[in-house]
Amino acid sequence: MNPQKFSPKPAKLPRRMRALVKARPEPGLELREVPVPRPGPDEVLIRVELASICGTDLHIHRWDDWAQGVIRPPLVIGHEFVGRVARLGALVKGLRLGDLICGEGHIVCGHCRNCLAGRRHLCPDTQGVGVHRAGAFADYLCIPAANVWPADATIPLEVLSCFDPLGNAAHTALSFDLVGEDVLITGAGPIGLMACAIARHCGARHIVVSDVNPQRLRLAKRMGASRGVRADHESLTEVARSLCMKEGFDVGFEMSGSPEALDTMIAAMAHGGRIALLGLQKQPAPVAVNRVVLHGLTLKGIYGRQMFETWYKMTMLVKTGLDIRPIITHRFSCTKHKQAFDLVASGKCGKVILDWRG
Ligand code: NAD
Ligand code: ZN
Repeated sequence: MNPQKFSPKPAKLPRRMRALVKARPEPGLELREVPVPRPGPDEVLIRVELASICGTDLHIHRWDDWAQGVIRPPLVIGHEFVGRVARLGALVKGLRLGDLICGEGHIVCGHCRNCLAGRRHLCPDTQGVGVHRAGAFADYLCIPAANVWPADATIPLEVLSCFDPLGNAAHTALSFDLVGEDVLITGAGPIGLMACAIARHCGARHIVVSDVNPQRLRLAKRMGASRGVRADHESLTEVARSLCMKEGFDVGFEMSGSPEALDTMIAAMAHGGRIALLGLQKQPAPVAVNRVVLHGLTLKGIYGRQMFETWYKMTMLVKTGLDIRPIITHRFSCTKHKQAFDLVASGKCGKVILDWRG
């Protein structure tokens, strides 16, 4: 049975659309009119409804060293989104016009050893939506059908728009058994906060979250942290003692990208402790290798999300009561993108969403 047969009649597509573009190799972004992309045979065109702003978008906005090395303007940016199928390529099966979907922003080669073995998150030729090809801060987005995640329509739209970073948090947090464990999370950005909520949902005992931003530490408490710790003022050893922890943390999630935070974490782990590293270090981080060796620590790097086991798991986490809505603190119309990016740059927020409807 061909599901396309039962799709509603495709609405006429406009020729042009609004898009947030890195127009030139300099700081800033422009909301401009660009042509609506046309899907190839194995691609899907999506009418974007909500899209959320990621740290990567901020790097591109600022035009920092990383962005200058990777981004080729003009480029439509953005990769965290929820929307509806607007057109299907001729070869696409299993999706229908109007379906509510999210999308995996990492496009993999499909034929390296890892891809063939089903470990697509480890593909060495990964391309990023909104980084290496046109992204989701637009009325329409085109991605391969293989990157589409059919969304559960009972989940709030705003939460679905954050499935990409929630997937980073879930991929990290579900790396290790959390039941009854004492967990340290360095960095209470949106992803650290999501990891905190997941650790609480999955049965961790104490969850200590450190940051230098008091507003974010308040959110961490709301997401189930036992303690929020000012990384610049408080000692983790003291905090661990006040919680009657005897041997250090069992599990650590590094989610700040700060070399000091990683160093503090390694020092605070119990022997045999397991650390998952998601944060991208802003500068080279010295690692206390002898401590890792002598204390038998495990350090595991995390990139992206497992395709699509992480997507399944986060759907089920949300359906069994994981609530990340308090982390979504601000919403803006896409026309107010400047205010939205200024707010993200200030750090006085959790997750910030751009609305592309209307
Ligand atoms: P974010 O920048 O919003 O949050 C980082 C937080 O760390 C901030 O709240 C900041 O105040 C805090 N921080 C700074 N110094 C600290 C210190 N010494 N101790 C404790 N906290 C400190 O970032 P995010 O969007 O939540 O993402 C978290 C990290 O994950 C970032 O480094 C990001 O680049 C990285 N990331 C990695 C992947 C991946 O696939 N590996 C994907 C997305 C994001
Ligand atoms: Zn590959």
